[in-house]
Amino acid sequence: MNKAKLMDGTALAARLLAEAKIKVDKIHQLTGVTPTLATVLVGDDPASATYVRMKRKRCEDAGMKSLLLELPQGTSTEELVIEIEKLGTDDAVHGILVQHPVPAPIDKRAAFEAIPVEKDVDGVTAGTLGRVILGMPGFAACTPKGIMRLLDEYNVDLDGTHAVVIGRSPILGRPMASMLINRHATVTLCHSRTRSLPSLVRNADVIIAAVGKPRFVKGGWIKVGAVVIDAGYNPGNIGDVDFDNAIEPCSLITPVPGGVGPMTIATLIDQTADAAAQQLGVDI
Ligand code: NAP
Repeated sequence: MNKAKLMDGTALAARLLAEAKIKVDKIHQLTGVTPTLATVLVGDDPASATYVRMKRKRCEDAGMKSLLLELPQGTSTEELVIEIEKLGTDDAVHGILVQHPVPAPIDKRAAFEAIPVEKDVDGVTAGTLGRVILGMPGFAACTPKGIMRLLDEYNVDLDGTHAVVIGRSPILGRPMASMLINRHATVTLCHSRTRSLPSLVRNADVIIAAVGKPRFVKGGWIKVGAVVIDAGYNPGNIGDVDFDNAIEPCSLITPVPGGVGPMTIATLIDQTADAAAQQLGVDI
């Protein structure tokens, strides 16, 4: 394998986490307060429990406090919203993460919208997405923000490129497309109704795969020299791109695991440190 083509998200995330720890230490020195992330986990999905464990571990590694609120399967939307609102008004909590997917029939959007924008460190609220679309400063959905950091780290010049984003979810494809547009890429945003997807991808200088289907993007769809970002994370550590056949034509590619995933968590931690600094009025 040509290792020179790999975009190392693990290494960049480690650097970002070390920088976040410096911010956390400074906040503590100046205010005596430890930045705190509250995580809300509803139900008993084992994958969600694993993600929450990983995020809490990274939090603690960065010197932050991690609160876990576990709610049983069968929690109603109203009960969940009340709990999130309590965290929203708790001065000791600086960031709120509602682990998703939440079990049906909870209204996920209602739960997200109960998070105050200033504590929306996972970037899930409509207010945060609106700011991202308009290119305003503030928090953003962690996965696309982490991807932008990776693209910058590898000096990918987006200006004037054609980027194809596959997936239009509010936490990934949509904010991703906006961030790329704000950096002067021309973006084609694809989804399950898109016709002739392979031919659109064949024209792309930058491909962002956020589909949730293992090895969905084929090597034969990739233009020589394209940059390939695989946001997919399917059971068995399998991405949304057929990595083995994509590595040859592409110029850069994110591996799975070790590409986008670690950047998502590092961005969450970094945004929580920033949220604490803002709420405590500290300049870091
Ligand atoms: P999602 O909400 O399920 O959205 C998937 C998107 O893919 C939808 O917009 C859907 O289109 C589109 N799609 C489905 N089948 C398609 C097809 N045949 N052709 C074209 N588009 C198709 O998923 P998500 O939350 O955005 O996540 C996407 C992937 O990223 C998943 O693998 C997830 O595990 C991964 N992920 C990774 C991280 C990380 O930290 N690494 C974080 C979040 C998500 P419609 O809108 O038309 O249904």
